[in-house]
Amino acid sequence: MKNLRHQSIFQLFILFLASHQPAEAATHPGPIEDPDLAYFLTDTIHCTLLNKTKLTAKYHAHGDYLINGLSIGRLKEMWCRNPFREIPENGNFEYSEMDLTQHFTYELLEKRLLNLVNSPHVRLVEMGLSTQGRSIYMLVLGHGDIVIAKEGGTHSRETFNTFVLVKQVEDYVNSLDTNAIRRRNLEEVTVLIAVCTNPDGLEDMLRHPRHVANKTNMNGVDINRNFFASISGGLAHGVKKCATIVNKPGNFYAGKHLGSEIETIVASKFVYYAIIERQAVIFESNHQAGNIIYAGKPYQTAEGFDRSHCFGELQKDFLNSNLEGTASNEQFFMVNEDANYGFDGRVGTITDFACDLASGFRFCAEQGRMVYADDSCEMPLLEAKSMEHYHLPHQTKCAIITMEYGVGEAAWGHSERARRKHPDMYQNYGLDKLLDFQMNYAGCLSPKLNQRLVLDLENKHKEDMTATIPLKIYCPR
Ligand SMILES: [Zn+2]
Repeated sequence: MKNLRHQSIFQLFILFLASHQPAEAATHPGPIEDPDLAYFLTDTIHCTLLNKTKLTAKYHAHGDYLINGLSIGRLKEMWCRNPFREIPENGNFEYSEMDLTQHFTYELLEKRLLNLVNSPHVRLVEMGLSTQGRSIYMLVLGHGDIVIAKEGGTHSRETFNTFVLVKQVEDYVNSLDTNAIRRRNLEEVTVLIAVCTNPDGLEDMLRHPRHVANKTNMNGVDINRNFFASISGGLAHGVKKCATIVNKPGNFYAGKHLGSEIETIVASKFVYYAIIERQAVIFESNHQAGNIIYAGKPYQTAEGFDRSHCFGELQKDFLNSNLEGTASNEQFFMVNEDANYGFDGRVGTITDFACDLASGFRFCAEQGRMVYADDSCEMPLLEAKSMEHYHLPHQTKCAIITMEYGVGEAAWGHSERARRKHPDMYQNYGLDKLLDFQMNYAGCLSPKLNQRLVLDLENKHKEDMTATIPLKIYCPR
C-alpha cells in the first residue's frame, strides 16, 4: 500500500512490465522498507482538537489513567533510531534440523537465522537493537501478497516459543525440495515472524537456565504491558483495579511510562508493518502459560471479536486434533478475557495495540496512547466504552490471537528438564504443520490461493509430498 504511494508513473509502468514476466524471475522483489513513521503519524493525529488540560478533564469524567503516555517526541526519536536493515545472504543454505533439547545462546540462534537467509525463500531483517544492543529480527518466509504475522519471545522465561517459531520456518524450508504444495504456497503467502522481541531477556534466561522467575527486559519492564494501546492504564469509575498491576520493576511492571522501552517500539513498528502496511490476515502473539488461546477483546466490535474468536477456535481444534495417538491429553482451551478487560487499569499488550491499529484507532499526541479519532472527535476507549460505534476500520480481515503453550512451570526457562519437554510439545500439537494450517486459513481469504490448494489437493497423489491438512473452507463473517 505504502509502496504505491511512493512510486512514480514510470515506476508503476516498469512494475506493470515486470508483472508480465514469469513468476520465477525474482525471488526477492524489492526492498523491505522501514515502517514509515510519517505514515503512522499521517494516519494519526498531528494536532489534537483539545489541549492537554481539557483532554485530561474530559477523560477524568470517565475514570483515571494510572500510567503516563508516550510523548510524541520520544516516539519519533525511538521509532527512527534503528530503521529496518535487511541482512544479506552469506553463503549456501545448509540443511539443519533444530534440536529443541540443545542448550542455546542467542548467538547460536542468530547463526541459524543467518543460515536460513541463504534460502531463496527466506529474508532476514534487523528491525532494531535491544536495550543491550542485541539485534531484534524479523524472518520473512515466502514471496506472496497474503500475509501472516507471528511474534514471540516477549517474556524471557517463555523460551519455548522463540525456538519453535524458528524451527517452524526451518522445517518448512527443509521440506521444500520434496513438497510441491509448500513451494507453491510460498508464491502466494508471506509469513512475517518477529522471532524474539526481548533478546536480552532471552539471553539472560539461556545463561541462567533455572532462573525462571523473570519475564521482563533488562530494565525490569514487562514489554507486554508497555504498549501505548487504547486500554493502557485506563481505570473506569466503579471498576475494581486489576490485581496484577505493580509499580516497581519486575513481572507485570509497565514501565515509567507507556512505550518507554526500545523493545516495545521495535515491536510496535512490526505490528504496524504487518497489520497496516502488509494487511496481515493473522496476527499471532506467542507465549507459554497454560495451553490457552486468547482471541478477541471484550471491547472490540462484534465483527472484530468474532473474526479473531473463530480463528482461535479453528487453531485450537487443529492443535488438539494432533494430540490423538500421542501420550499427552493436555488440550488447548479458549479463554475469554473478563468483561472489565480494558477498563480495570491494566496496561496494553501487543495484541491490544494490534487490535487498535486494525480498528483505525490513532496515536493521540496529547495523551500518548491510542484513541478513537476522526476529524471532529477524539475519544479514549475509557469514554467510548466499546469500539462498536467508534471504529474506523483500517483493516477488516486480521484475526488477532495470543497463544499460550505449555502447562506448568517445569517447561519454563532453559534447564535440561525444561528442554526435555519441548520436543514433545512441538510434536504433540503438530507444530511442524501449523504453518500449513495457517496458510490454508489465509488462503480462504484469497480465492486465488484457495483454487490452487483445491487443485493441488485433488492432484496430490501425483505429488511427491505428504499433503497439508485437509482444507477447511472457512470465511469469517
Ligand atoms: Zn507471556
